[in-house]
Amino acid sequence: MSPAPIVRFAPSPTGRIHIGNARTALLNWLFARRNGGVFVLRFDDTDFERSKTEYADSIEQDLAWLGVEPDLVRRQSERMAFYDDAAAKLKALGRLYPAWETPEELDRRRKRQQALGRPPVYDRAALRLTDDDRAALEAAGRKPHWRFRLDPGTVRWTDLVRGPSHIDCGSLSDPVLRRENGAYLYTLPSVVDDIELGVTHVIRGEDHVTNTAVQIQLFEALAGRAPEFGHHNLLTDAAGEGLSKRTGALSIASLREKGVEPLAVAALAVLVGSAEAVRPVASLDELAGLVDLGNLSRGAARFDEAELDALSARTLHAAPYAAVADRLAAIGVAGSNAEAFWQAVRGNVARLADAADWLGVVEGAVAPVVEDPAFLALAADRLPAGDWDRTTWAEWTNVLKAETGRKGRDLYHPLRLALTGRESGPELAALLPLIGRARATARLRAPSS
Ligand code: GLU
Repeated sequence: MSPAPIVRFAPSPTGRIHIGNARTALLNWLFARRNGGVFVLRFDDTDFERSKTEYADSIEQDLAWLGVEPDLVRRQSERMAFYDDAAAKLKALGRLYPAWETPEELDRRRKRQQALGRPPVYDRAALRLTDDDRAALEAAGRKPHWRFRLDPGTVRWTDLVRGPSHIDCGSLSDPVLRRENGAYLYTLPSVVDDIELGVTHVIRGEDHVTNTAVQIQLFEALAGRAPEFGHHNLLTDAAGEGLSKRTGALSIASLREKGVEPLAVAALAVLVGSAEAVRPVASLDELAGLVDLGNLSRGAARFDEAELDALSARTLHAAPYAAVADRLAAIGVAGSNAEAFWQAVRGNVARLADAADWLGVVEGAVAPVVEDPAFLALAADRLPAGDWDRTTWAEWTNVLKAETGRKGRDLYHPLRLALTGRESGPELAALLPLIGRARATARLRAPSS
């Protein structure tokens, strides 16, 4: 058996995570779950200006709400010394070199290359500087940025999602790994940490495919070998627009605040854009059994909030009491009848919070709708004696049917209006025992409305 996989989700804490980030997190976490592996949450927070502790905290909360608990949490900001060591190693290997071009200079060069019909690839002018040139730049107080010298060949890997993949590194500019101010860009720290954590599978969005070619070269330079890679398709909003942490669109927090079911968010986040039908699941373990990186489609997948609302409702309709008991208790649904109450009303809620409305109908002050007081008075007289259960309703309405000749809607609807004050709702066979004799009698005998 191959060793247990180690995977990571590596957000930069520069905003709240959205449904597309949740897709990446869940694909990793479910992969670890299915294979008895380890899931690391790694904050890529080397950008000191944009990274914020509040965002890191909110990302942990949003993941916990989805049911994703990391086995380990890492912060790149605490690991700068390791990146310095790796940079020194690359320098010694002749793979990291200083360059002094300003953004304006690089821009001018790119435009010139484009005008000549050449690809806008960095021309490695910095490698042709003499020692004297460099000394002069330093004496003038200029600080270099640092570029990784790519091998010009083609990098190949077998992508867990996309199959055999390759990138011609001759067509890429040597990437900048470190800025003039000493800050590392994401590329190098990510590889250093993946090596140190023993990451076996890097599962991330397909916007990182080009980075993968660069990073495979970095892995090979620093550790001799690279992990496996899988690049999943990205989610767009319903209009086909890409998602961004910065805009807050479709953030996990906003979905939570709207009262959407976390399991529905998780299911839609990973099943949309896959060969599996989008469907409600009873647990993340069930979802783990449905998700396979090889089953993801190639094109972008649209995330539709209307589809999420429908899936959220269907998830609740099938939710066992134990799965929602804590959240029900928080809105006042507790006690010995709580489970029966949930069974009765779950098919009639779109959001869990709607259960509170039905609790009001069962236990609260209902304004009964009384259209035919004589019939309702008879119905009150005929309420069955003894303890009530789910059979009481049939017993009662059979008696009323025999005595009055009413049937169908004529028989049932006036009872529903009086007992619940509503036109429609959960099955009365389930509600009647919960409403109980005292309330039922009072509602049936209420003055006509
Ligand atoms: N911090 C990177 C991002 O958020 C991580 C990419 C990766 O998984 O390597 O896109």
